[in-house]
Amino acid sequence: MRLRAFFLNLPHLLILGWLSLLLLSPRPAAAAAGELPEFGFAILKTSRVAVREALLVPGGSLSKEIDSNFSAFLIKHRDEYLLFDTGMGRQIDAQYHADMPRPWRPFFKYEAPVRPARDQLEQVGFFAQHKTISRVILSHSHWDHAGGLLDFPEAKVLVSPAEMGLVRQPTRGPGGSWASQIGSAAIAWEALQFKDQAYKGYTQSLDLFGDGRVVLVPMPGHTPGSIGLFLTVDSGQVYFFIGDVAWTVAAVKAGAPKFWAASALVDAHAEQTQRAVAQLRDLLRQEPGLVLVPAHDSAVQDPLGYFPNWVR
Ligand SMILES: [Zn+2]
Repeated sequence: MRLRAFFLNLPHLLILGWLSLLLLSPRPAAAAAGELPEFGFAILKTSRVAVREALLVPGGSLSKEIDSNFSAFLIKHRDEYLLFDTGMGRQIDAQYHADMPRPWRPFFKYEAPVRPARDQLEQVGFFAQHKTISRVILSHSHWDHAGGLLDFPEAKVLVSPAEMGLVRQPTRGPGGSWASQIGSAAIAWEALQFKDQAYKGYTQSLDLFGDGRVVLVPMPGHTPGSIGLFLTVDSGQVYFFIGDVAWTVAAVKAGAPKFWAASALVDAHAEQTQRAVAQLRDLLRQEPGLVLVPAHDSAVQDPLGYFPNWVR
């Protein structure tokens, strides 16, 4: 009889349990649209330029034009906001005038309007809400990635130890790290301390917060200190920001190097860059769910959406 009474009461017990859970448990995080993710990112597209598809995509058309983006990536880890690259900043016109020699200008340019990351953040009241950018991490120090550095004087600027050599000896031109952007004595540089800890096939890594959410890895070749950033967002999806190791995911999948003339100008070490691309292709085969995000690839970035849209 006692057993029968128990079974009769089971539905009531379940309803009671469910009601108490509803009343006692906290509301699930980030349920409503517009709420910020705990771990996520937003793409700040600071500028773009139309280029021939063949330059960015193996076997692409010579007549069709596609967008090459100049993007910065705003990364949110709980209450901390980081920038991975800065794209074009407020002083880009003067910087370009000073450090891009005239003969290169027809081939390496950006188009108006420039929307610096700092402006985009200010426009939504980011700083007024007492939020700050504590750290800027550069995938590498080239002009189209470091252009907004001076707009974030409060941030520490983190680069690979191998990139510090370029930072100390700036160069001009399309594959340059420009004095007009990185030469200021006021910039608070910090060299990343990688550990001999393997991560997804990379022999060295740096788990920035110690929780596996933001992991940096060296990817030398395009510049000696080029790095990539793995981010695991709220949904569990992993994104891999690869800077300029490859300009498009299509090129990674094809295992194709950059167009030779472009590679000669911008890749510090073409063979090493190609090895980095091959490693990326292998990683994609092992983890087909991984999403690669090259700094300039509009075909990847358009579907993800742009700031103030967050990828969570
Ligand atoms: Zn570059």
